[in-house]
Amino acid sequence: MMVIQLSERQEKIIEIVKGNQPITGEEIANQLNLTRSTLRPDLSILTMSGILDARPRVGYFFIGKPSLNYISDEIKSILVEDIKSIPVILEESTSIYDAIVFMFLEDVGSIYITNNGILSGVISRKDIIRTVMGGTDLYKVPIGVIMTRMPNIIYVKPKDSVLTAAMKLIEHEIDSLPVVEGIDNSNKDYRVVGRITKTNITRIFVELGNNI
Ligand code: ADP
Repeated sequence: MMVIQLSERQEKIIEIVKGNQPITGEEIANQLNLTRSTLRPDLSILTMSGILDARPRVGYFFIGKPSLNYISDEIKSILVEDIKSIPVILEESTSIYDAIVFMFLEDVGSIYITNNGILSGVISRKDIIRTVMGGTDLYKVPIGVIMTRMPNIIYVKPKDSVLTAAMKLIEHEIDSLPVVEGIDNSNKDYRVVGRITKTNITRIFVELGNNI
C-alpha cells in the first residue's frame, strides 16, 4: 500500500468533499476562501492518488483510498477492551516453583500477581531465570519476593486505545500489560480484568494488512 502524507489543506478538502459530494472545484475553493487556481495542485494530487474522483460537469467524489490519517484513526478507534486476552493471575504467596509450573501450563511469558485479589506485581520469564541462577529455594520463597511490584507496574484501562497500549509496551520494553479496573474511585487498588500482549497488537497489524 502506498501511504501518502497529506497537507492540512488537502485534509480539509477531503472533509469538504465527504460532506458535500458531488461538489465542484469552485465550491470547494469558496468554502476555503481560496481561488480555484490555488487549489488546482491539491486537487490533482488527491485525484491522482485515488482519494478523490473528478467527474466532468458533476464534481468531486470521495473514493477513500486509505491515507495515513485513515489508518491512524482506525487504529485509535480500537480499544483495549475490544482485543484483550484473559489474564493469568497468581496470589503473592504462591511458591516460585508453582509459578514456574503454572507459567508452562498456561503457556504465557508473564503472570500478574495479586494480594487478596488486588494487583500487586508482575513476574516474567527473566525474573524467574534470574532467581534460579541465584540459587533461591524455589519451593520456599513466594513470588511476592521476586516480582516487580506496584507502584512500578505499567497498566492500561479497558477504554484506552490500543495505540496507547502499544506505545507503553515499546516505551517500557515489556511484553505485556495488565488491563485494570479501579475497585473504587478513591484509591489506587486495581482488579486485573485482562491482558494485552505483543501478540494482541500483532494480530491487529495482520488484520489491517489483510483488510479484514
Ligand atoms: P521477559 O522477562 O520475558 O523479557 P518482560 O520483558 O515483559 O519479559 O519483562 C522484563 C521485566 O519487566 C521483568 O523484570 C518484569 O517483571 C517487568 N515487567 C513485565 N511486565 C511489566 C509491566 N506491565 N509493568 C512493569 N514491569 C513489568
